Amino acid sequence: MRAVVVRPPSPGAELLDVPVPELSAGTVRVAVLECGVCGTDHDIVDGKYGRAPPGSPYLILGHENLGEVRELGAGAAGFAPGDLVVATVRRGCGRCRFCHTNRSDFCETGGFTERGIGGSHGYMADEYVELPEYLVRVPPALRSIAVLLEPLSVVEKATFQGQRVLDRKEPTPGEPKVGVPRALVAGTGAIGMLAAFVLAVRGYRVTAIDRHGEDTLAAGLLRRVGARHVNVAGGTAVLGDEGYDLVIEATGSVALDFSLIDRLGPNGVLVLTGIPDAGGPAEPVAGGTLFRDVVLGNQAIVGSVNANRTYFESGLRDLAVFEDRWPGAVAQMIAGRHPIEECASVLAQRTSGTIKTVLTVRPGGAGASPP
Ligand SMILES: [Zn+2]
Ligand SMILES: [Zn+2]
Repeated sequence: MRAVVVRPPSPGAELLDVPVPELSAGTVRVAVLECGVCGTDHDIVDGKYGRAPPGSPYLILGHENLGEVRELGAGAAGFAPGDLVVATVRRGCGRCRFCHTNRSDFCETGGFTERGIGGSHGYMADEYVELPEYLVRVPPALRSIAVLLEPLSVVEKATFQGQRVLDRKEPTPGEPKVGVPRALVAGTGAIGMLAAFVLAVRGYRVTAIDRHGEDTLAAGLLRRVGARHVNVAGGTAVLGDEGYDLVIEATGSVALDFSLIDRLGPNGVLVLTGIPDAGGPAEPVAGGTLFRDVVLGNQAIVGSVNANRTYFESGLRDLAVFEDRWPGAVAQMIAGRHPIEECASVLAQRTSGTIKTVLTVRPGGAGASPP
C-alpha cells in the first residue's frame, strides 16, 4: 500500500510502497479517506522530532484522520464495514492508572506512543489496523468536516480543563449569575479557530488575536461566529485593559505566552496548548510582577496536551452544533485538498494564512469535491 513516510531525524517525506498491516483477532481494518496536515507534521518533516516504531526504518506520518471501516478481525465488535471513523492518536504506556483507563493524555510515565508522531505508525496510508476502543464513529452528515475532529479534540480538552478551574467561580445555588464570561483565543490556526467556535457555542464573548488584518479567511469566520478579531502585530497593548476569564493559547510563542498572563482577569485561567521550541532564545521576564499578580488574582496557568476519546466524542457533538448554527463555516477552514501523491510538496511548505490543508488518500472519499 501507499504511505507517506519520514525517517526522523532526517528531514523530508516521501510516498513509499509499504506492506499492508495485518488484521489480527479483535482489530479493525480501516481504509483512510483523508488526513489533515498540521504544524506537528511540518516539524517532523523538518527533522525536529518524530520517532519510528521499534525495528522500523521509517515512520508513517499523519495523526489527523478520517477513514472508513473495511473489515473486522475475529471477535472485533461495535463497527460494521462502511462506518466512518476517526482514530485517536495516543496509545498508553500500559503501566499508569490513566493509561489503564483509556486516558493516556494524562500518562504519568511518558511511556506512551503517538500514531504518526512517536513510536507508532500514523494514518497517511491506504489502510491502518486498530483496536475498536481507539475508533470513534462519525455520523455520515459530518463526513466533509470530520477530518478536523482530531484537532478539535485538543480544543475540547483544553477548554474543559480551563472550565474545570473556572467552575470555582460558579455561583452557589440560588445566587444569580452575573455577566457574560470573556474568552481570549491567541492564534487563528486550526486550533485557535476551533477554540473560538467552541467558546462561542459555550456562551463566551470571544476575542481572537493574530498578526493579520481583517481580510483573511480567519477574520471572516470569526465575524461569522460573532467573535471579535484583533491584529496584535504591534503588540497586545491594543487589546486595552479588559481582563479575560479564560485564555486559550494556540501559538507556541513564549514571548506571547508571558504577555497573555497579563491579560487574565481576576480568578482567570490561561490554558497553553502551543508547544514552544525548547531551543528558543531565553525570554527576559519581570517575574516578580508577573507571579505577584497571579497570586493576588487567584489566577491559574494550565498546560493541556493531546486528548482522550471522551474529547473526540464531545467534539463530534460540537461539530453538529457548529453546522447547525453556522452552516458551512467549519468546511471553510479547509483551505485545500491535495492528492496523497503531492505529499512531499504539501509537507514542505507552511502556507501562512491557511487554516487547514488536507491530503486526500482515497479520491472520491470524504469531501473530495469542495462544497
Ligand atoms: Zn495535528
Ligand atoms: Zn501511562
